[in-house]
Amino acid sequence: MRGALGGPRVLLRRLREVMAEPVSAQERLDKIVVLIAANMVAEVCSVYVLRVDGTLELYATEGLKREAVHLTVMRTDEGLVGLVASQANPINLSDAQSHPAYSYRPETGEEIYHSFLGVPILRAGNTLGVLVVQNRAHRTYSEEEVEALQTTSMVLAEMIASGELSALALPGAEPAVRPRKNLAGAALSEGIALGHVVLHEPRVAIKNFIADDVQTELKRLDDAIATLRADVDLMLERGEVSDGQESREVLEAYRMFAHDRGWLDRMREAVATGLTAEAGVERVQSDSRARMLRSTDPYLRERLHDLDDLANRLMRQLMGVEHAPRRDQLPDNAIVVARMMGPAALLDYDRKRLRGLILEEGGPTSHVAIVARALGIAAVGEVENITGLVESGDPVIVDGISGEVFLRPPPDIESAYAERVRLRARRQAQYQALRDKPCVTKDGRHIQLLINAGLLVDLPHIAETGAAGIGLFRTELQFMVATSFPRINEQLSLYRSVLDAAEKRPVTFRTLDIGGDKVLPYMRAFEEENPAMGWRAIRLGLDRPGLMRSQIRALLKASSGRALKIMFPMVAVVEEFDQGKALVEHELTHLRRHGHILPERVEIGAMLEVPSLLYQLDELLPRVDFLSVGSNDLFQFLYAVDRGNARVSGRFDPLSTPILRPLRDIAAKGEAYGKPITLCGELASTPIGALTLVALGYRALSLTPSAVGPVKAMLLDLDAAKAKAVIDPLIDAPAGTVSVRHRIEMFAAAEGLQL
Ligand code: PEP
Ligand code: MG
Repeated sequence: MRGALGGPRVLLRRLREVMAEPVSAQERLDKIVVLIAANMVAEVCSVYVLRVDGTLELYATEGLKREAVHLTVMRTDEGLVGLVASQANPINLSDAQSHPAYSYRPETGEEIYHSFLGVPILRAGNTLGVLVVQNRAHRTYSEEEVEALQTTSMVLAEMIASGELSALALPGAEPAVRPRKNLAGAALSEGIALGHVVLHEPRVAIKNFIADDVQTELKRLDDAIATLRADVDLMLERGEVSDGQESREVLEAYRMFAHDRGWLDRMREAVATGLTAEAGVERVQSDSRARMLRSTDPYLRERLHDLDDLANRLMRQLMGVEHAPRRDQLPDNAIVVARMMGPAALLDYDRKRLRGLILEEGGPTSHVAIVARALGIAAVGEVENITGLVESGDPVIVDGISGEVFLRPPPDIESAYAERVRLRARRQAQYQALRDKPCVTKDGRHIQLLINAGLLVDLPHIAETGAAGIGLFRTELQFMVATSFPRINEQLSLYRSVLDAAEKRPVTFRTLDIGGDKVLPYMRAFEEENPAMGWRAIRLGLDRPGLMRSQIRALLKASSGRALKIMFPMVAVVEEFDQGKALVEHELTHLRRHGHILPERVEIGAMLEVPSLLYQLDELLPRVDFLSVGSNDLFQFLYAVDRGNARVSGRFDPLSTPILRPLRDIAAKGEAYGKPITLCGELASTPIGALTLVALGYRALSLTPSAVGPVKAMLLDLDAAKAKAVIDPLIDAPAGTVSVRHRIEMFAAAEGLQL
């Protein structure tokens, strides 16, 4: 069998010398292909580089016709080289010409070569080019030779990534390192941000690829793996779920991989060819990343992600690098990029410098998205492979309205967005000027504008927006961002801070709305077919009264001497309200008996978000002190449309008669019984929704903080009676359509209202 001359270690050492020589990029490439060809006893060695236009260009060759260099260009769906690039996998053939993908390029003179070995030049799983060796004779390259060529390709990956080759390219045909990208994802948090990438899990930059002494490197690798295994075992033993991220399932997967011989052997083999331990880890990691990017099986992808995370840990272990970037190292206008992160990790970033967030996973209902909205930063999720595409410091634009991400944007896009940011700032300033103005419509209706909140970071929004108070405090958010059950004192301290921040303004605390899609990472989840309609909110609260009782106690204690408003989520029958109220009264009696200072006044209400309550209003209203309409869930249940399922959630229009009719009835009943009604669903947070609700008789709306400005600006210009006169008949007799949005838009346009 023909073996490689001197073996891969000799080759790597020679390559290191070539990399250090003060020669031009082309000369360096030319020397590299000669060295590889000689070492592998191949007649041909060629380097193809992937360009920004998606084609592959021959950059250097030993053995093919030299005139073809920089002339031969092929698509990635063309020929064997294209196949290696698109599959990111080696191709090893003893008779290349009989392969169906073989494509003949006369300018190269390659027809005389029969055997072919091509390997992708990979970096972070992305293909940067293809490295090929060819022989005249029918020859099958050994596994060691494939491995050696892949190892060698890492040196080329570094060379391409360094940008050294760009000088050899024509404009528009540069190597596809750090190309411009326009990526589409899911909008998670409204806002637009221009800034620079901060990788939440920074990639460790490898400085030394080529080992001085292979035995030393093998030992370094083995030691790091031993530490990694011990760490994972310890995490599992302690039942650690750091930041709600590493669930038990993930830790189990870590353990499985950490002990997986196949993974370890591949890394050891890579090191044995002459790489440093860290370069060996990266070599294998890049392969599995490439597989992950091409896999469509969700389970496999998930596991490959876990393996990728584990490889990152191993790399940090080897290089002694800290996990997250230090707070004080954060640049201004930081855009944090992560595969996924927990809410607490996002809260750790310096709020003053944080502008945006981009996630590979993470849908709109993820906990981190909730925190991003509370922080008021632009966020986009579900952006495929974003962590593999960016480098720290890359310029990037996050459009949290359209769900787009512009990586390394061209100047025209950047200036268009900068203009939008300026415009938004100007509009914000106009809203700010309205902050202290009472919210009264043109025809003299007072509308109470409150905000929705749930975390400490929300509290400054009260003063910023000039809101009349908090109409919905989602107490479950504290539980969702925590890594373990918040103790009663922690709950009490949050509630006290909320009441302090609100000063004398009213705050409506909603008791825990957990269950459904609001899962707590540390609580055992029950498999439910329909979690939104399952064991959640007050159902769970009444079945496990200990939890609810301690929360109510914390609320009562926190408000000592002040007014308190409590409401229950997901009430479906009046008896549930009665039972909840009885719990509050029981706790009041208990505290009174123990000499605690009681709240000045306690009002108890219910969320109206389950349609069954629509038919119990005459029973419910006399019992409650107030009602709050949860239009998000009411809409979901009325239309039987999962609010978290993007495929159906936009199918029906909330501005349509089947929901507007009951909403109007609720407002009228509230008035008849003299009970205040607030609406706290998303519908109130759009100017067109608020317009409609005021026309239907609502006088209190609880909004996302960022919506207060635009809604108030619209309401100040609104003639509510006129709106009612237009909207009532539409609802009673819709003009052939269920949605009345268009008609309301026409009314707004005629009235000069900004929607
Ligand atoms: C609602 O359902 O409309 C509501 C305000 O509650 P949440 O969005 O928290 O379910
Ligand atoms: Mg709800």
